[in-house]
Amino acid sequence: MELTFGYIMFWVCIIGLCCGSFYNVVILRSLNDESIVFPPSKCPKCNHKLYWWHNIPVISYILLRGKCYFCHEKISIQYPFIELLTMAMFALTYIKFGFEIKTLFVMFWISCLIIMTTTDFKAKLVDCNIAIIMAISGIVYAFINNGLQGLWYSFLGILAGVIIIEAVARLGYIFAGTRAMGEADSYVAGALGAIAGIFNIIPVLLYALFAAMIFIIPMYLYKSYKNNEKKVCILMILFLLSVAFFKSVNQSLVSLAVLMILGILLAFSVIKSMKRESELTYLPYVPALSCAALYFIMSM
Ligand SMILES: [Zn+2]
Repeated sequence: MELTFGYIMFWVCIIGLCCGSFYNVVILRSLNDESIVFPPSKCPKCNHKLYWWHNIPVISYILLRGKCYFCHEKISIQYPFIELLTMAMFALTYIKFGFEIKTLFVMFWISCLIIMTTTDFKAKLVDCNIAIIMAISGIVYAFINNGLQGLWYSFLGILAGVIIIEAVARLGYIFAGTRAMGEADSYVAGALGAIAGIFNIIPVLLYALFAAMIFIIPMYLYKSYKNNEKKVCILMILFLLSVAFFKSVNQSLVSLAVLMILGILLAFSVIKSMKRESELTYLPYVPALSCAALYFIMSM
């Protein structure tokens, strides 16, 4: 039988759903520090062992109407979301790269990014072993593609990624008396360095900075509003308004000066809030790094 595009795509989607289902287990158990293989699936609320038909990706969620069969506790939307996301990313990878060895590597990297991003979002916790495995696979891929030279560039990429992010993280000690980023961010940057190599790691980190802005702005507004940090919130809004004003209405030196003053005031009030260890301290760097990595990997 001929392997048509549609036939392979069908199986890619099924495998994506099943992998996504497995990643949900990895996410849940790495947050609870449990073994991935050993205990059978159970409801996190009532601990009741699940039947086989409670574990079918997406379909079980719909059949159970998003509730546990036994205790009727709501099942997190995270489960079908991760399954569908993994399926979609696997399908995109197959469309983009076809039936190649590269496709497998890309699927593996995307899987690692999905797991680390989710645990970071949920509990500000990232399993650094996943980043290490990702870095090793990046080196192997570079070696397969470009031999010893690829291996060397990949290794230098790891060094550059770790050094740059560590430097930024430690700058936090000077300005805010605390690390500006978590340790996991350095591991993830190292893994991206292995995949991107020494010549591409800096653009990837710049994409990440850009992605972080997109995440951070709405999150900051929401959190500063919720935590009654009025000064940060007002400065943020003024800063955004002046950026919009500068971009679209008036590009004079005066409006640039206003923009810069607001930017500096905003930076200081953010640093002050970091010193107070308010909730604003957490910045979603791993999700930002993941977005940048995804953009880079898909255009590789
Ligand atoms: Zn239950």
